[in-house]
Amino acid sequence: MCIFCKIVNGEIPNNTVHENDNFLAFHDLHPKAPIHILIIPKIHVDCFQDVSPETMSGLTTFAQEVATKVGVDQTGYRLITNNGDDGGQEVYHLHFHLLGGGKLKWGHLHEDAHMSI
Ligand code: AMP
Repeated sequence: MCIFCKIVNGEIPNNTVHENDNFLAFHDLHPKAPIHILIIPKIHVDCFQDVSPETMSGLTTFAQEVATKVGVDQTGYRLITNNGDDGGQEVYHLHFHLLGGGKLKWGHLHEDAHMSI
């Protein structure tokens, strides 16, 4: 069982922000911004490439609720998912990072970012 499934099952503690029957949001262990929350479906899905539109539909509403709950719905935030090896995914249970709480930086994410495709 993957680490996020263990969190869903209560086998590993988490700092829950928001929850419903299908989704869970909890604080990231190693925050990269003043607010850094992970949003996951309770069912196991490896990554974004495998997720159904139905799950994404519920996750959209849930993520908006999380943003409102932590007070960044008006100030702004970033919602990202790392997909697969090149995307930098470390935990293979779909999760979205909700980052905010201050002005976020945005820069080149790869040394070849200046090259035209
Ligand atoms: P990613 O690199 O997109 O797969 O992100 C995985 C994220 O999970 C990282 O930001 C980790 O800090 C976070 N993480 C790993 N284990 C835990 C945990 N037990 N509780 C909260 N966050 C975790």
